[in-house]
Amino acid sequence: MKCTHCGGQLEETEQIFSNGTKHIKLLCSDCRMWNGYKKQIVDSTKFEMPFGKHKGKTLGAICEDNPHYLLWAKDNFKGNIKRRIEDVLSKKNVTKNLCIKDIPEEE
Ligand SMILES: [Zn+2]
Repeated sequence: MKCTHCGGQLEETEQIFSNGTKHIKLLCSDCRMWNGYKKQIVDSTKFEMPFGKHKGKTLGAICEDNPHYLLWAKDNFKGNIKRRIEDVLSKKNVTKNLCIKDIPEEE
């Protein structure tokens, strides 16, 4: 990516917002103009829980160890983290009726 002001090279600096979203701040290394943020696309299963008793763990890991917690969190958290949790739960096919990991597979 190039600077929209002078066409120079952009520097990328990672910033983590209070809601846990990672953004890349784009700053021109030539004219020092700020070129906005590039939202980082993070796989929801690799998204880290920003708070709570599982803070710092990825949603994928929490889903493996404690799917009940994610189901609870989905109903109790709001905003970005809620969408991430919903994404993980649907990817892993975790529902209220089926949230025990050792369901035998039948063919
Ligand atoms: Zn520039």
